[in-house]
Amino acid sequence: MSHVVASSAAPRVPAELFAAGHRSYSFEFFPPKTAKGERALWRALRRVEAVAPAFVSVTYGAGGSSREHSAALTQKIAEDTVLRPVAHLTAVGHSTAELRRIIGRYADVGIRDVLALRGDPPGDPRGPWVRHPGGPEHAADLVRLVRELGNFGIGVAAFPERHPRSPDWESDIRYFVAKCRAGADYAITQMFFRAEDYFRLRDRLTAAGCDIPVIPEIMPATRFEQIKRFAELSNASVPSGLATRLAAARHDPEEAHRIGVDHATELAQRLLDEGAPGLHYITLNRSSAVLDIHRVLRLPSPR
Ligand code: FAD
Repeated sequence: MSHVVASSAAPRVPAELFAAGHRSYSFEFFPPKTAKGERALWRALRRVEAVAPAFVSVTYGAGGSSREHSAALTQKIAEDTVLRPVAHLTAVGHSTAELRRIIGRYADVGIRDVLALRGDPPGDPRGPWVRHPGGPEHAADLVRLVRELGNFGIGVAAFPERHPRSPDWESDIRYFVAKCRAGADYAITQMFFRAEDYFRLRDRLTAAGCDIPVIPEIMPATRFEQIKRFAELSNASVPSGLATRLAAARHDPEEAHRIGVDHATELAQRLLDEGAPGLHYITLNRSSAVLDIHRVLRLPSPR
C-alpha cells in the first residue's frame, strides 16, 4: 500500500478541461449484483467508450460487499478500457484509517479522481447521520483527507433543490462553500428536472464567492414508477406535465422513452446554452437513453 499517492504531475479531470476552455461530459454507473447485470453494464460501458467522455464515475455502496464491487469495477475500468474512472467514496461506516487505505489502493492502480461524499445512513437514508467514531463527520473532512493524500481530482455533491436535511439555504450554501475551501475542484449535482433550480443554485454559489464548476446531473425520466421513487429519495421535484405524460405512457415503453429523452434533451440544451460547464448522465447501466440525448445535442468529444 502506498503512502505517497497520485503523482504531483497528475492532471485533474475535469479541472484540466475547464482550464483549457472545454466542457466535461461524463456518465455514471453502479456495480451490478448479477451476471446478467454485469453483461448489461459492460455493453453500456463499451458504447459510452465510443463517444470518448471526459470520465465515467462509479457509485459507492452503503456497505458490505457492494463496496468491494465498486472498488473492483473502478479498477477494471481503469485497466481494461480507455475510460477515465472517477471513484465515488463515502464516509459511511469508515474510519479515517480505512479511508486512507481505500484511497491508497486507488492510487496504486492509477485512479486519480475521487467524488468525495458523506453518504447517507445505511438502511434509512432519511434517518439521523451518525459518523464512524474514528471517521469524518462531513464531506468537507473527506475532501481534506483526499487532498492531503495526493494530487487527486476531487469532486463533491451539490443540490439544486437543497440537501434534504439542510434546514435552510443559507446553511446549505455555507457548508457547500466549506467543501470548496477544503479543496474540491468541481461539483456534480443531484438529479433535477427544472433548469431554474440549477441556475438559482449557481447564482447563490456565485454570490457566496464560490466559483468551482458545478456539473448538472441529467437523469432521463423514462419510467414513471422509477422516477417517482428516485425523486422521493433525492428530493427532486418532477414537473407535473412530465409526470402526467409519463404516467399516461406507463404501458408504452417506447413512448415513455421518447418522453424522458425529449425532456432531458431540452433541459440539457438549455443548461448548456446558459453556460453549464458540462453534463453528467445517470445511466443506470444502460446506454440507450443517455446516448440518444448525447447524439441529439451533437456535443464535441472533450478528449
Ligand atoms: P455533506 O456535504 O457533508 O452534507 C450533508 C448535510 O450536512 C447537508 O445538509 C449539509 O448542509 C450538512 N453539513 C455539511 N457540513 C456541515 C457542518 N460543518 N455542520 C453542520 N451541517 C453540515 N451516496 C452514496 O452512498 N454513494 C454514492 O456513490 C453517491 N453518489 C452521489 C453522487 C452525486 C452526484 C450526488 C449528488 C450524491 C451522491 N450520493 C451518494 C448521495 C450523498 O452521499 C448524499 O446526498 C448525502 O446525504 C450528502 O452527501 P454530501 O457529500 O453532500 O454531504
